[in-house]
Amino acid sequence: MAAQRIAIVSVFDKTGLLDLAKGLVAQQVRILASGGTAKMIRESGFPVEDISAITKAPEMLAGRVKTLHPAVHAGILARNLASDEKDLAEQSIDKVDYVICNLYPFKDTVAKPNVTVQEAVEEIDIGGVTLIRAAAKNHARVAILSDPNDYAEFLKELESGDLKDESRKRYALKAFEHTADYDANISAFFRARYSGNGEQQLTLRYGANPHQKPASAYTTSSNLPFKVLCGAPGYINLLDALNSWPLVKELKAALGKPAAASFKHVSPAGAAIGVPLSPEERKVYFVDDIQGIETSGLAQAYARARGADRMSSFGDMIALSDVVDVPTASIISKEVSDGVIAPGYEDAALEILKKKKGGKFLVLQIDPEYQPDPTEVRTVYGVTLTQHRNDIAISPASFSRTVTPKDFTLPESATRDLTVATIALKYTQSNSVCYAKNGQVVGLGAGQQSRIHCTRLAGDKADNWWFRFHPRVLGIKWKKGTKRPEKSNAIDLLVSGELPKSGPEREAFEAVFEEVPAAFTEEEREDWASKLVDVAISSDAFVSFHRSIPVAHIHSRTNANQFPFTDNVYRAHRSGVKYMAAPGGSQNDSAVYETAEKLGIVFVEQNIRLFHH
Ligand code: 5GP
Repeated sequence: MAAQRIAIVSVFDKTGLLDLAKGLVAQQVRILASGGTAKMIRESGFPVEDISAITKAPEMLAGRVKTLHPAVHAGILARNLASDEKDLAEQSIDKVDYVICNLYPFKDTVAKPNVTVQEAVEEIDIGGVTLIRAAAKNHARVAILSDPNDYAEFLKELESGDLKDESRKRYALKAFEHTADYDANISAFFRARYSGNGEQQLTLRYGANPHQKPASAYTTSSNLPFKVLCGAPGYINLLDALNSWPLVKELKAALGKPAAASFKHVSPAGAAIGVPLSPEERKVYFVDDIQGIETSGLAQAYARARGADRMSSFGDMIALSDVVDVPTASIISKEVSDGVIAPGYEDAALEILKKKKGGKFLVLQIDPEYQPDPTEVRTVYGVTLTQHRNDIAISPASFSRTVTPKDFTLPESATRDLTVATIALKYTQSNSVCYAKNGQVVGLGAGQQSRIHCTRLAGDKADNWWFRFHPRVLGIKWKKGTKRPEKSNAIDLLVSGELPKSGPEREAFEAVFEEVPAAFTEEEREDWASKLVDVAISSDAFVSFHRSIPVAHIHSRTNANQFPFTDNVYRAHRSGVKYMAAPGGSQNDSAVYETAEKLGIVFVEQNIRLFHH
């Protein structure tokens, strides 16, 4: 005759307990239960034994030790092996078939205001977690019920015979999730109290918006990879810092020169490597008064990164690849900016930065050796998404093969600029398109759903950048006391062609000049635009998009009901593009290649899609 089946029942949440007991009794299952659980079952008149019936030991330490005993755990963990059977027989231990257990409400307790560590400690379930883990581990033989919602189905299955393999597996998975979640709550509670603010976790004022509280940043396996040297980071600051740092690290690794990025809303406004600046560039980038910039590659890199799109860089988060020197800090001190992340700071540079924003300028020091976990995890609307980090390396070697003209040898400046543009895209919200020249981004379009809109946006930015070098802009005579942001705004209005002929906006524009510069005429625009040459462009995905159109509208050259649009190539050409890199590979790319060839654009193979979100 088969031995009587045994269930160990130890539940904090006693929902459905009596129905469960009733069902177990009906199936002649012997019930062993911990103190409170046994009491409730007994009072309802169902047969139940205390755990001590098998442990021969009382509950101890005010409930801290209830079920922790070999008689319990050997009974749960034993397999159907002769050696296990022998061990059990020697100790007169019976096998346990079912474990029904849920845990002390740690999460609810610590959610109460002003909870003490002592109160939280008492809510750390030990024996229950051990019961659950042991039973889940041995789910090949034992069923573990950790959710009262499963009792009814469990009993139904029991009535029709024993539990199916599938059910035990499903219950085991739930049990593992239950203990994992439980432990995550315990470690979160103690991380907040014991890790020291800034070492392993940071409490943030709020999330993306002021009403999104609480907010924090933390790591689980080590300390945070950065130290806060000044200021208090916000949620968006950290998003920018942790996206911009790898960008400059990779740029430096790829091109061997100091690199800088200027980030806003989790996309670069500019990114560059240290290339010496011409007198015009120094003027256009507002750095002609910076001492020592001739010899500081890092300062040159930031001047270029900030100079790409001064309007977008307003209030930026800065990333710098190298130890920050005084010339770089001096540029930063003059600009409206939120913070900086870099591997280190010279003492004098740090002093300059600490004085910024009344001492609130954010200064982060990143560990340059830090390697993030290769798996990225985030939750969106309660759903966890994971992916392997985009750790593919981009370097000048990534641009070694030209599609058209074939076997064209790219000048070093072209592979450099394609590298800058493409690494920038790797950290730009998609869709993204980037124009680069002179080792820097000159126009970057981020976060557009349509690629042509992105190519236009980035192209317009590149045009604006270029028009800032027009002699009329370089010769502007400012009214005394005009601030840098006012200058940037006025220049942007002038070069963008958005300048109204009259009205209050026009009056505000005119107010900052000693002599008001004339708006550009169409001819002047065309003439100056034609002087922008040798620009590189990169795209994070296909430029040869095929938009489905009705079959009736299909013209020759198409062999499917799709038509390859070459508008991106035409638009790029208008902003001086000579070198173009974009993922290709579809048979319909040929129209794009033909157009590029017609326009004198060198199309470079780059087969890595770089969407970023
Ligand atoms: P009861 O109400 O039956 O007295 O206690 C049930 C609770 O005790 C369950 O939440 C279970 O996880 C927990 N538990 C079971 N065994 C032990 C043990 O040995 N030590 C501690 N601290 N908790 C236990």
